[in-house]
Amino acid sequence: IELMPCSDDKYYAFKYVNGHPKNTAEGKLCVVALGVLADVDSGYPLMECEMTLLTAIRTAATAALGAKYLARKDSRHVAIIGTGAQAEFQIAALKTVFPLTKVSYYDIDAAAMRKFHGHMDGDIDVLVPCDSVATAVQGADIVVTATASKQKNIIVSADMLEPGMHIHAMGGDCPGKTEFDASALQRCKVVVEYIEQSMIEGEIQDCGREAVHAELWEIVSGFKAGRQNDDEITFFDSVGFAVEDLSILKLIYQLSEQEGIGEMTYMIPDLANPKDLYGLLFSP
Ligand code: NAD
Repeated sequence: IELMPCSDDKYYAFKYVNGHPKNTAEGKLCVVALGVLADVDSGYPLMECEMTLLTAIRTAATAALGAKYLARKDSRHVAIIGTGAQAEFQIAALKTVFPLTKVSYYDIDAAAMRKFHGHMDGDIDVLVPCDSVATAVQGADIVVTATASKQKNIIVSADMLEPGMHIHAMGGDCPGKTEFDASALQRCKVVVEYIEQSMIEGEIQDCGREAVHAELWEIVSGFKAGRQNDDEITFFDSVGFAVEDLSILKLIYQLSEQEGIGEMTYMIPDLANPKDLYGLLFSP
């Protein structure tokens, strides 16, 4: 369970989020989240918001942003390993950047693969269910790993990586929970969201900061190079960064005001005399 605070000069936000892989066997989501947006000037809360769906959307948006700068421009084929709650969002977001024609996929749970197929059918020309990770990633331009397991795994091994691939590793996102080993990372140009956090939570937790080429903002802002040729293997070690949550909460707040969506709840005492809080106990 994680609390993710972040602010700019106008808004303060926090998200409360979990990651419990065993939950799905009991009919509960693996990742659930709630968020609050507050006004920095007064400290008053502005919005309370369900963030399970928003987490999936902002995580997928981050994947698309990373791939825009790191994947080959001619990427058409995505492989996704782990077809749980986040999977379709990842494909939908990547599709906004690349005209995807093929998605190959693998999950240890056949029902999760069928669910994924049901949602993607019609959106993607060629959908290929695979019986192993190796088959799914073979020939892919972009590989997304979105598995949930509370341990150090090797989901995609170094020998499965091909020149020109872009890896979006999002399932390893807390201490002791990874999807790649150091030998795979050594073959890649590694990019993270925020190095201090990724050193604790990311795929680089066993490699050290020397393994990192850049934080994504450095590439987006032009301070460092993204992909430099069609052969290098790029790797975005995504753990989920609080600025992503602040951004989507600000967007939702703006949209809810614009569209008149949401309900006003009166949780904070509205006092005639703000110094008389005690009097509230005796008000009718
Ligand atoms: P989920 O439980 O709904 O789906 C995970 C899927 O992975 C399941 O279908 C499971 O069967 C499959 N899986 C587990 N081990 C596997 C293996 N060895 N090979 C193939 N498939 C395997 O979870 P979710 O909500 O889709 O989240 C996926 C992962 O992404 C979680 O680990 C979660 O913590 C992480 N996550 C990261 C971010 C981020 O910002 N980086 C955001 C949200 C979720």
